[in-house]
Amino acid sequence: MRNLFRRALPLVTGDAAQEAAPDLWVRCGRCRELLYTREWEAAHRVCAKCGFHARLSVADRLAHLLDAGSWHERDANLRPSDPLGFAPPGRPSYVDKLAAEARESGQTEAAVYGHGTIDGIPVVLAILDMAYFAGTLGAVVGEKVARAFELGIAERCAVVVVSASGGARQQEGVVALVQMAKAAAAVQALAGARLPYVSILTDPTLGGVTASFATLGDCILAEPGAVIGFAGPRIIEQTTGEKLPPGAQTAEFQLAHGMVDLVVARRDQKAAVARVIRLLLDGTAATVVAPGAPEPAATGTNGTSFATSPTVAQVTR
Ligand SMILES: [Zn+2]
Repeated sequence: MRNLFRRALPLVTGDAAQEAAPDLWVRCGRCRELLYTREWEAAHRVCAKCGFHARLSVADRLAHLLDAGSWHERDANLRPSDPLGFAPPGRPSYVDKLAAEARESGQTEAAVYGHGTIDGIPVVLAILDMAYFAGTLGAVVGEKVARAFELGIAERCAVVVVSASGGARQQEGVVALVQMAKAAAAVQALAGARLPYVSILTDPTLGGVTASFATLGDCILAEPGAVIGFAGPRIIEQTTGEKLPPGAQTAEFQLAHGMVDLVVARRDQKAAVARVIRLLLDGTAATVVAPGAPEPAATGTNGTSFATSPTVAQVTR
């Protein structure tokens, strides 16, 4: 399971140029092309050859999505507990695993939230972090997501959630599962306040996160190639005894089947999110684009720009 979640990281082996200067080069996780690290970072970790979107750290995601200097984190001091006393015989206890995850990732939990601005628009932003416990939804992640929506209501601004998760955190049992309902109720409260919620699905978004707040956005964006589903492909194949069709559970597959509204390349994501929020806040596309503003490139179900896509037109409450 951990290999699945960490498979897309850049690799540094097997090439003379790379071995001579390993910091200068990374190898694409999909096409295996050797890429100049500086150019790859400047492209937000998207392969120039094949368009593969490698995973971003929370810090990179914040720098990529928010206006510079606008981020203010909230409740950074929330820490996980061990509600079940989970310590199976012969295996590491939950407390030991939490310590190991913190040591390896440098994080204290699998989500951050706070407020900032996107293209000048005040937003509350929550980001799930695959680097810590595979982004799993436990009490702290659920609490931070729920509080993000409460903060959005208090500050009367849009909420953006970037999901990346292996699902509910099994070591917290029903305490983890109830976070799904809690977060969903918080989404509904934001809807009741007539404020927009934009959900961004990144690789991978699975399990209880998919079945809760990640798929409740007024507009649901996904990154190209992201794995999005409930049970992962291995579990489905073990349970049903059948192979999934090629490309199943990708962002593009979910777009074609109506589960997401837009697949947006990372370079266009900030402009697309700003545009969607303005559209939802104003309720009309007429005031969405500032004069001279670039058109974000996005793919709708019919291949048109999303400015005229029926999938976006339908998301206004
Ligand atoms: Zn590539």
